[in-house]
Amino acid sequence: MRIGIVGGSIAGCAAAVQLARGGHEVIVLERSRGGLTGRGAGIGTPNDTFAAMVARDLIGRNTPRWVASEHPLVSRRDRADRYGRPALTLPLNMALLNWGDLWRELRARVADSTYVEGRSVTSVETRGSEVRLAGHDDWSQSFDLAIFADGYQSMGRRKLFPDLEASYRGYVLWRGVLEESRLSDTGPLETALYRIHYKGLAGNAVFYFVPGEGGSTDLGSRWVNWACYVPVPHTELSAFLVDRAGNSHEHSLPPGSMRPEEEARLKALMREHLPSYFAEIVQASSATFAQPIYTVEVPENAVGRIALIGDAGAVAPPFTGSGVFKAMMNAVELADALAGSTEVTAALQGWSRTQAERGMRLAALGRQMESAFVWDAPDFSTLSEVEARAWWTGAITFPLEFSYLHGETNGRRPEHEDESGG
Ligand SMILES: Cc1cc2nc3c(=O)[nH]c(=O)nc-3n(C[C@H](O)[C@H](O)[C@H](O)COP(=O)(O)OP(=O)(O)OC[C@H]3O[C@@H](n4cnc5c(N)ncnc54)[C@H](O)[C@@H]3O)c2cc1C
Repeated sequence: MRIGIVGGSIAGCAAAVQLARGGHEVIVLERSRGGLTGRGAGIGTPNDTFAAMVARDLIGRNTPRWVASEHPLVSRRDRADRYGRPALTLPLNMALLNWGDLWRELRARVADSTYVEGRSVTSVETRGSEVRLAGHDDWSQSFDLAIFADGYQSMGRRKLFPDLEASYRGYVLWRGVLEESRLSDTGPLETALYRIHYKGLAGNAVFYFVPGEGGSTDLGSRWVNWACYVPVPHTELSAFLVDRAGNSHEHSLPPGSMRPEEEARLKALMREHLPSYFAEIVQASSATFAQPIYTVEVPENAVGRIALIGDAGAVAPPFTGSGVFKAMMNAVELADALAGSTEVTAALQGWSRTQAERGMRLAALGRQMESAFVWDAPDFSTLSEVEARAWWTGAITFPLEFSYLHGETNGRRPEHEDESGG
């Protein structure tokens, strides 16, 4: 088939690789120019997902990563507290990557001749069994299948489900990175993804190492990736998204653009709530950035010859760490479904049902984690380990299918690993 993929990020590249290998004629249409490496800082994905991507040759075995095997849940005891008190340390199964390294690995497997930069798709029309994509400068092209991998504000999703609105969750993620060389010590972070809960304020902050410049994981050259979930009421969101030049942004504040008074307010807030070691990391970071958190669920991932993958489909609250997992599964299973069938519409429908159901299950898990981690977290500086464990098992039920996302494997291997042998 001739397949047009809108969006050349994680999901788009994964689909392009898998579908081209399946013998399809694929074109990726990406609105940005010059590569996507500057986005996103760090990204975590389960080790099993990393292994499955290596086994499928979506990324190389040597893709730089840092592995965290512990997930301490922490609160600050008092102002003198340097590292905070973990009430509970959960097992973790996370590969922590530099977003740019991950994208570069995927992109390297897409033929340059099939990856079109600077092509913004502005309309989509279905005509019989053809889908026509169009953009600026009178560009248009027809395909047998259009795949939208255009992220959480997806145009494809709006086309298929015009009444579906992404819902703002009442908090933003404020993020930054700091070079390891600027840390006083690395003690608490060597093997852990730290999650620190504030006292008397909704939200939490996470800290973990990712590979630094050039993918280096050498001691001294890593980056600390940090991310603070901070409540911002819906009524204040548009004011929050005004940058230092007075321009309003709709979806995020790019690195370095936050108003100095807002950045100073957030840094002061973190000095109030974080143990001093972590507050110093936030304080020393510049070019911070922020994005409001939205979620959405889709009833289907495909209608007719239009399919949605990655964040263009369902978006769960970010605590499941499943964005890469879901993007990869959408792409891999789409290629498999098309390879195993001569009836394209039926293959797409079967694939769509599986992906939409998985998206809903991930969203349900994400909502539980959001309640537990953002809105209803206890004070971990006073809880005993027994109390903390009772809170954890009561607050979140991991379906076996996703239990490995949090290192709680319950002795069962994840489904996709069996398939890939990864
Ligand atoms: C706060 C936050 C934290 C996260 N942390 C994690 C994490 O730790 N682990 C994890 O697995 N996931 C995480 N995710 C999710 C993860 O970032 C995504 O799921 C993943 O990057 C897949 O994205 P994607 O390829 O579907 O879309 P995106 O990365 O959003 O890419 C969409 C692409 O489409 C292009 N595009 C958009 N519109 C058009 C158009 N009209 N024409 C042409 N091109 C277009 C864009 O330029 C872009 O390149 C997080 C998400 C958020 C919001």
